[in-house]
Amino acid sequence: MTHPDLAPTLLRLLGPGEPEVGCDECFAALDRYVELELAGADADALVPGLRAHLAGCPACGEEHESLRALLELDTPGGSE
Ligand SMILES: [Zn+2]
Repeated sequence: MTHPDLAPTLLRLLGPGEPEVGCDECFAALDRYVELELAGADADALVPGLRAHLAGCPACGEEHESLRALLELDTPGGSE
């Protein structure tokens, strides 16, 4: 079990060698991540650590799901 309310700074101190982001960074990068996903790009490589955070953080995982659903509706063609 992980605690999603741990301070991002603390997570950074705990895992200096890992790219995992905190909730603040996750939310900041999430729309870009979802756009990359929907564009068929390698979102996990372009936004390192975000996927790991989404997997371990229910709140951000849920935000990711709803944002993706929203953007899927918003981009019928999948390209601009
Ligand atoms: Zn989070």
